Amino acid sequence: MKLILVGPPGSGKGTQAKMLIDKYSIPQISTGDILREAVKEGSPLGKKAKSLMDKGSLVPDEVVVGIIEERLKKPDCKGGFILDGFPRTVAQAEALDKILDKMNLEIDHLLNIEVDDGELLKRLTGRRTCKNCGRGYHIIFDPPAKENVCNECNGDLYQRDDDKEDTIKSRLKVYHDQTAPVVDFYKKKNLSRTIDGLGKIDEVFTRVTGAIN
Ligand code: ADP
Ligand code: ADP
Ligand code: ZN
Repeated sequence: MKLILVGPPGSGKGTQAKMLIDKYSIPQISTGDILREAVKEGSPLGKKAKSLMDKGSLVPDEVVVGIIEERLKKPDCKGGFILDGFPRTVAQAEALDKILDKMNLEIDHLLNIEVDDGELLKRLTGRRTCKNCGRGYHIIFDPPAKENVCNECNGDLYQRDDDKEDTIKSRLKVYHDQTAPVVDFYKKKNLSRTIDGLGKIDEVFTRVTGAIN
């Protein structure tokens, strides 16, 4: 199964991807997680990406396309994968097509998770992220068993620098301007499935698996 998860920031891509990993035993490839890891390590890539991410802007297409090309070659992607947060521009979608062509692979479905901006703001301002493994929580909608501690790895939870109200507004604008056209790109290929992202996490997951089957 080769899936793409698209949706505005806070729509639940990461949350649903973690559940899909368990159900289908395929890896999640999140460009956001990979970039945050690079920032944490202070690598040249991380240094370049940090100021753009903090502003809510996208990092350059060639940077993320390079990351994805390397990642898809790893053996754990042989049985399929979940792309979370990539492609985010039409240029990235075109580059992905070329990469997959070379590998003789095709995307099965793009899942387009729809959530309105008001709900996204509530979700993102309450989001907490594990410093260690990157899993997301929500202080009200999906709290960890122990305050500020990750259920899975005991790591500390933190609020991402870009999950502050001003940056959230820029990210939503970037989504509507640059990423929404990606959905049309896959609609033309008949691969886009629209998912109503409102409701409980489990309810959304039922819609996601229903769309895949
Ligand atoms: P969210 O899950 O809230 O949508 P991500 O973790 O996917 O956010 O991305 C965080 C930031 O990382 C983005 O705002 C952007 O700066 C950068 N980023 C992640 N994926 C991409 C991508 N495919 N293209 C360009 N920038 C990206
Ligand atoms: P994305 O990866 O698309 O940016 P996340 O999966 O990180 O989104 O979810 C954003 C925030 O909303 C997190 O705090 C998460 O716990 C919460 N969340 C995810 N799905 C739901 C849902 N169906 N209802 C309420 N909150 C949700
Ligand atoms: Zn963790």
